[in-house]
Amino acid sequence: MSEPRRIAAPVVIAGGGPVGLALAVTLGKADIPCVLVEPRLTSSPIPRGQNLTARSLEHFYYWDCVSELRAARLLPAGFPIGGITAYESLASEHWYAPPGRETVADFYYQRNERLPQHLTESVLRARLQGLGSVTAFFGWSVTSASQHVGGVRVTARQDGGAGRCEIEGDYLVGCDGAHSLVREQAGIGSSGEDFGRRMVLAVFRSSELSERLSRFPLRTTYRVLHPELKGYWWFFGRVDATKTWFFHAPVPDDATAASFGVQALAGLIERAAGSAVACEFQHVGFWDLRINMADRYRRGRVFIAGDAAHSHPPYGAHGLNTGLEDAVNLGWKLAAVLHGWGGPGLLDSYDEERRPVFAETGESITEAIADDRAFLERYSPRRDPAEFELAWSGRTSAETAPASYEPHYAGSPIVWGPAGAVSGVRGEHTFGARAGHHLPPAKLSSGADVFERLSAGFTLVALTADQQPGAAFQDASRELRMPLQVITDSFEGPRTAWARRLILVRPDQFVAWTADDPPADAVAVLRRAAGYCDPGPGRRTGSRGDFEP
Ligand SMILES: Cc1cc2nc3c(=O)[nH]c(=O)nc-3n(C[C@H](O)[C@H](O)[C@H](O)COP(=O)(O)OP(=O)(O)OC[C@H]3O[C@@H](n4cnc5c(N)ncnc54)[C@H](O)[C@@H]3O)c2cc1C
Repeated sequence: MSEPRRIAAPVVIAGGGPVGLALAVTLGKADIPCVLVEPRLTSSPIPRGQNLTARSLEHFYYWDCVSELRAARLLPAGFPIGGITAYESLASEHWYAPPGRETVADFYYQRNERLPQHLTESVLRARLQGLGSVTAFFGWSVTSASQHVGGVRVTARQDGGAGRCEIEGDYLVGCDGAHSLVREQAGIGSSGEDFGRRMVLAVFRSSELSERLSRFPLRTTYRVLHPELKGYWWFFGRVDATKTWFFHAPVPDDATAASFGVQALAGLIERAAGSAVACEFQHVGFWDLRINMADRYRRGRVFIAGDAAHSHPPYGAHGLNTGLEDAVNLGWKLAAVLHGWGGPGLLDSYDEERRPVFAETGESITEAIADDRAFLERYSPRRDPAEFELAWSGRTSAETAPASYEPHYAGSPIVWGPAGAVSGVRGEHTFGARAGHHLPPAKLSSGADVFERLSAGFTLVALTADQQPGAAFQDASRELRMPLQVITDSFEGPRTAWARRLILVRPDQFVAWTADDPPADAVAVLRRAAGYCDPGPGRRTGSRGDFEP
């Protein structure tokens, strides 16, 4: 057998699904050389995660491929992205169209989008080609991963070929999905809730279903709540505007392709749709409904992101969006450390910021299943139609999920959040600038949105005629050798909604610090934001230790 090829790069990425690709683009844009290893030569054609939030579209804007992403969509521009909820079947008289993510659209610089995951991946793969610092090994698999005091060592094998490769790096990131080899070999445990529910995923063509659903306002997803399902759903989603659909549904625990064939599936679709519909199946697969979260997102020089770190059922369409945010959060921090200005706590803050976000996301999914189950047990149009009608109509106004789902890092050790704040997803969208929260967009006096002016490093938005705060921050950034740009403007018009005159924005568009008056010590403000933070008594310091450089 020939000697394995040996290569070296600061960052090795195992897995080139959407999250690994997103991390490679983030690092590539920051001029950090990295090697990405992915077995699949092309993206899998299963639609999987389709709903991309407005926040995810901001990532595509900064990755310079937002137009390419929108051009890849299968639905016509302006097609309403949202859902219908119906009782017992899609033929039911009891249904509603809950408010969707459009309710929070104004809090983001981009509008949300919907397209099959393989098309999203294709856009990211194409973007990689323009980034000279990224070396991608498609058609290769990571076979082992280890770390030592000075770095990481990864071996990879060409699938179906004779190629062997040894990659040395400073850091390894496992973006290799729910069954992550990197997570396992780094000794990172995981735990969660197994609902003990086997689910089917079918992709099929049916113009008849499209016609049948024309009785509803135009939407992209249709979920059916049925007392028999105990809070789980029959769920249809459009893949394109006219005839391609996917369908999720609970099936018997031992269902396999052999035991649960297309006839059984067609019967299930008939029940969910309310009557038989002609379907031409393209894909049938099975998955188990469980929530799983890694005990830590970092061990020494090894990180995990995306489904490798957390997985949950596609209820709420958080999986892909959460993974993309992981990539952006970890990406800027790795780049900061490798460029020499990131402090010793910066890489630990990836776990400290991102794990609480997933923990609460998982909780909210569990709660939603339990709430639906309780509703279906408590109310029935056959037992008490009037009582059911009242409770059912109350559900529309109660569905505030998009507005109250606001991932934030207010409790992070690297932001200047309020004392006692805890990071998570339960919050509210506001136009105010708050430390630890996403910066809401606003127009500058030039007419440009602030998002068009934010730098790839830190940005101080100084809404004051006084030049002193900007100068102090620039001096401090020079001292710390941190990239910082100052935007000076007036505290007028749309910018008053931020309610703060000085706003320090991180490379991921989250706010690190706000004030109205210049700080006594700008160096101290920047030091914490760059990860030179005191974790405080009793605060867990992630998994630093064993192999911390
Ligand atoms: C059936 C299904 C339906 C879904 N529907 C939705 C939805 O509607 N909405 C939503 O938000 N999310 C949905 N998801 C979840 C969403 O698809 C995932 O959250 C998303 O794919 C996570 O991306 P990832 O890159 O972390 O992991 P993956 O997409 O799983 O990618 C991991 C990559 O790692 C590669 N890999 C594995 N082992 C190795 C190895 N040894 N070496 C190198 N590479 C390796 C794999 O080939 C793969 O490309 C769905 C998932 C499934 C399975």
